This record gives sequence, C-alpha cells and structure tokens, in this order.
Amino acid sequence: MIQAEQKKSLSPVWDPWDPWYTRSEKGRYELTSVEFTVTQLCNLRCEHCAVGEMLVQEEGTFLPVDRLIRRLDEVESLQTISITGGEPVLNPQVVRDMIRPLLRYARSRGLYTQINSNLTLPLSRYEDWIEDVDVLHISYNYRDAADFHRIAFEKNGRDVSPAAAEALFNRMVDNAKALSRAGVFVSAETLLSPFTAPYVAGMHRDVSEMGCRRHEVHPLYPSDFAKGMELISLDTYRNTILELLDKRDPSVWILFGTLPFYPCSDEAADRECWLRLHREKNVTVRHDPDGRNRLNINTFTGDVFVTDFGEVPSLGNVERDRLDAVFQRWLERPEAKRLHCFCPAARCTGPNILVADAYYSNWDFQQRQAGVILSSS
Ligand code: SF4
Repeated sequence: MIQAEQKKSLSPVWDPWDPWYTRSEKGRYELTSVEFTVTQLCNLRCEHCAVGEMLVQEEGTFLPVDRLIRRLDEVESLQTISITGGEPVLNPQVVRDMIRPLLRYARSRGLYTQINSNLTLPLSRYEDWIEDVDVLHISYNYRDAADFHRIAFEKNGRDVSPAAAEALFNRMVDNAKALSRAGVFVSAETLLSPFTAPYVAGMHRDVSEMGCRRHEVHPLYPSDFAKGMELISLDTYRNTILELLDKRDPSVWILFGTLPFYPCSDEAADRECWLRLHREKNVTVRHDPDGRNRLNINTFTGDVFVTDFGEVPSLGNVERDRLDAVFQRWLERPEAKRLHCFCPAARCTGPNILVADAYYSNWDFQQRQAGVILSSS
C-alpha cells in the first residue's frame, strides 16, 4: 500500500494510470486502478460520447459508499481511483455522499485520483473539494463556441440556443484557466475524428492557453453515440499527430492514449512514428489501462466492467465479488489473452480492444513481434 507522504508528482516519467510499470517490473498485470461511474446524469449530450446511450434524465439510488470502500480496502495493489459519469459534479448529492468520501479515502491511502468533468458548472461547485484531486480531466474538441454548440447538444433532443451554449463554453474555458492558475492539474482530452483532426494544432494552442498541464490525444472510440461516426484513416491519424508534434507547445505534456500504432506494424512509417513519439521530450504513449490494471464499477448496480464503455458484459458485482478476483477472472478470458501481447524492448503492451477491433480486426496480435527496439528500454 502506498503511504500519502510517498506520493511522487505526476510527470511524463510517472503516470500511475499506466499499466507499463507493473507489467514490466512484476511480469504480470495487477489491479492498480478502479474507476467509479458515479452518475448517469449529464447536462450535455456530446456526439462523441462513449456512454451517451446510458445517460438518463432521472437518477436511481447509488450503493452506500462504505460498501464500495470496503471492496477497495481488499485491493492491496491499488494506486489510483478515477471518478466518471455522466457529469459527476451535476448532482450535489453525488458530490457530497460519493465523490468526497472517495477522495477522502484516497487521500488517507495515498492513492492518486482523477475526476472527469465537462467543467461547465459554476466554479464554486468545484472549489471546496478539487484540491483532493490529482487530475481534473476535461474534454476539448472544439475550435470555438459554435463547435461546442453543435457537438455538445448534437444528441440533446431539445433546442439549446447558440447564446446558452456559448455561455457554457466560456464558463468551461474560464474554469479551466482559474483552476489551472490555482495549481490544479488539468488534463484536456481531444478525440481525433474527421472533425477534430484538421484543427488539432489549434485546439492544442487553446489547451496550452487555458493553462492545462497535459493534453491527451486519443482516437474516437467507435462506441455508443459515436458508433455511427466515421473513423479517420491510419494515414490521417499518423500525419495529424506528427503535425501536432511539430507545432506543439513543448511545455505541455502530450499523452497519446489508445494509440492505433504498434512497433510490430508492417508499415515503416508507423514504426518510425512509434520511435519518434518515444524520443520526444514531454510526450508519452500510455499503455491501455482497460483490463490491464483497471476495472470500472457502476455505483448504482454494483456491476464491475473492464471499461465504462464497449461491449464486454459485466464481469462480477461488488455485492458478492472481490475486485482482485474479478480482475483475475478477466485475465483468463479469451478477449484478454488475445490482446495482451508484450514486446518489452519496444515498450509495447498491445492494443485497446475497441481500437484493435476498429483498425486491426484481421491481426493476430499473439503472432506478432516488434520490429523496432527503443534504446531506453
Ligand atoms: S506488444 Fe503486441 S502490439 Fe506491441 S509490438 Fe508486440 S505484438 Fe505488436
């Protein structure tokens, strides 16, 4: 168990959400991260939302937080807790009776914490507890307020005026600036889609101007609301991230997550891209946490999943299962075995399930091997 005083600062060389450390040091995966879905309410309905179909207008009753904490207590290897939704901050009862106790527990154990928020609520709703959060994760997929209006209310089903959307967009930007100035580690995520890819360098500039310490870049996950959205080609993806590297603010840490390129690629350009990403300062490639070190808990049903989105059914329930036992059960499943390849000299632990199915459905990852070596490995 980590003690609070031993907590290292987050940095490109220490990202406790990354399963790489455990896999490379212990030779196996361990459950080190638990994510809680604490609400299914949200004031937005973003077109790319990976849990959009699960959002509701009226919330059910969540399980007592003590019962969840008892399950966390059993996980000796735990290092991080993440809180997601919906919009976790929307319902004050969720903040009071679920988020704050979880954060207090995390602090007492020296765990790292992340909360995902759209940051569109008044700043006062964040101020008296956000200091207990290590990473405030937001989405940033917009050039301006007009984009935000179209994207955030795409699936709303109700008319939201451009002026009302602009007020929310401006509040998100102002909140991000204010919290960054106050020392909060704000990490903004952009999903690369046909819409965002041409503008990602400009979005990165905005992320930097908001004072965000990190910019996360992922592919669009073809799940839920986003299921019908077009994916960008791998060539476009590669050219987009290489252009971003050329134009970036070097003081902002860029984290590439669920990257759709691997060192065993048949394409020389993809292998070269992998090498460049690992050579750049303040740039990291995060290994996929879903099912490699993390489980997700639905706090209403107690069901435990390998990810809060995607189509792998529930693997257990907190009412009857220990979390580390559920994690071991997942590791034995064919989906895990299929994608848990490992090429340490290239610092690769294989693909995310959604990304593999979207881009590499005909690859047998267990039969592949890295074609490059990283000198730092
Ligand atoms: S770990 Fe898997 S995905 Fe990565 S290089 Fe090796 S075979 Fe390819």
